Amino acid sequence: MILFKEARALKAHLSDKKAQDIRIGFVPTMGALHQGHISLIEQAKANSDYVVASIFVNPTQFNNTADLLNYPKTIDKDISMLLEAGCDALYHPEVSDLYQANEPKLSAADYGTFIHVLEGAKRPGHFDGVVTILTKLFDWVQPDIVFFGQKDYQQCLVVKTLIKRKFQAIQFVACPIIRESDGLAMSSRNIRLSAEERAQAPRIYKALENLKQNWNAGNWNQALVQLRQELDQTPFELEYLEVCDPETLEPLMEFSRDAIALIALQLGHTRLIDNHIL
Ligand code: AMP
Repeated sequence: MILFKEARALKAHLSDKKAQDIRIGFVPTMGALHQGHISLIEQAKANSDYVVASIFVNPTQFNNTADLLNYPKTIDKDISMLLEAGCDALYHPEVSDLYQANEPKLSAADYGTFIHVLEGAKRPGHFDGVVTILTKLFDWVQPDIVFFGQKDYQQCLVVKTLIKRKFQAIQFVACPIIRESDGLAMSSRNIRLSAEERAQAPRIYKALENLKQNWNAGNWNQALVQLRQELDQTPFELEYLEVCDPETLEPLMEFSRDAIALIALQLGHTRLIDNHIL
């Protein structure tokens, strides 16, 4: 695997590959890698000729400085995992390679109603930061195909919109959520949970499963109210638990065949998100 610290060298290297008609698969990440990330690399390996990953904790998508500073970093382990997974190139830059001082963010405000709810409402400016960094990365890598996890479901809708507007040549692939054996969705943030918090964390997925069962049985509204109460008690602090239309993310008021449950909460000092197609 070739490690690139600078976009200039990465671009030159990849334009050689493009000239040889090599199909480039791209997996952007913020590092602290786990099996969820590796599943994307595996998908990329299966569907392209040359796999590029990036590791960059993107400051413009954090609306909370403490969260940015505390974001886990495990670069040596990440590199070993990428090597083992057969990744071909890694772009791991400093902030200065991607941003000029005081550079304004791009805006995702007109992407559709879905942009302003859930994560968009709880983390103002977050998706602007996502669109800003991905525009740069897509421009530089010029991938043929990109891989994103459904764990960040709303982000998948944002990326699909960005691709439709600016990068029509890129193929988008959404990959399933990889979970621990007790159901907890893998996340870089999980390593910050205390032993007690980690023991409580599987209740998040259990709540989503409970909703799925009640959704099909038809008494989901009652279940939703009850689960919101249960997950808003110590050690949890609920931000949202909603059943939504999968395209618009508008909350559903009545049964629909297409539905998704999405949740965000604080568990101690750690913010976790998850979702489940109903
Ligand atoms: P992150 O490093 O958190 O920005 O995530 C990088 C990519 O990995 C995003 O496309 C995420 O949706 C994806 N990802 C993170 N966790 C998981 C998971 N548990 N299963 C599948 N994909 C994931």
